[in-house]
Amino acid sequence: MFYDTHAHLDYPDYAGDFAEVIVRARAAGISKMISIGTSLDSSERAIRLAEKFPAIYAAVGWHPSDAMKAPSDLRPALREMCKHPKVVAIGEIGLDYHRLPSQKPEFTAADDVRYKQKQADLFHQQLEVALEVKLNCVIHQRDAFDDTLAQFKPFASSIQGVFHCFGENADRMRRVLEIGSLVSFTGIVTFKNGQNVRDTVAATPLDKFMLETDCPYLAPVPYRGKRCEPAYVKEISETVARVKNCSLEELSAATCKTAQEFFPKLNG
Ligand SMILES: [Zn+2]
Ligand SMILES: [Zn+2]
Repeated sequence: MFYDTHAHLDYPDYAGDFAEVIVRARAAGISKMISIGTSLDSSERAIRLAEKFPAIYAAVGWHPSDAMKAPSDLRPALREMCKHPKVVAIGEIGLDYHRLPSQKPEFTAADDVRYKQKQADLFHQQLEVALEVKLNCVIHQRDAFDDTLAQFKPFASSIQGVFHCFGENADRMRRVLEIGSLVSFTGIVTFKNGQNVRDTVAATPLDKFMLETDCPYLAPVPYRGKRCEPAYVKEISETVARVKNCSLEELSAATCKTAQEFFPKLNG
């Protein structure tokens, strides 16, 4: 038995066969799934799925890549959604500098500054709500590790973050654990070119990480390049157990316990 702690089940990729995706997940032993919000609409859709399917829970938040589309004050709507019994976290939130506006000819460095400021403002608002409602956070960062860690740090004595889709080295993993937060690993651990992530998995204590698909992205081997779905946590868990040199039972017990503690409302 495993959980998929990070899935985008509200995406149109699943519109055609949603019920079968959930049946396949349950058949593969994936007993709980968290559908992660990337905007207010997406968060709302995640909540609707959680209401309809007992195995699905929701996280609500606004993704940094879509920061420019966010309202100036996200907090009131977010606070409301957090009251829902199946909303287990705020997320995904954070900073993403992977594609900056100035990579396109019509934008300049000043646009990059504005974009980063908007991301930071949005991240801060959502951390404030997390603190208020006492929910942990699912943190997304890409090419922005130092800034994300620095912005999260002042909140780290009160709330935990899970740095999801963790692809950084062991040293950075330790910096996350040092502030009381966690990491989670995706299908990248199964990729031929994923040795750096496997090295980080090997160095991460068994009780300090969770498993996720980040589906529909990042399908593990042998499904690489195809649409990903929660059932594939099975393939991810097999690789992680091998890297950790532990049994699937030990990995299941450790990662499910970590998830239940990190997302207390998963038990409700
Ligand atoms: Zn993400
Ligand atoms: Zn995601």
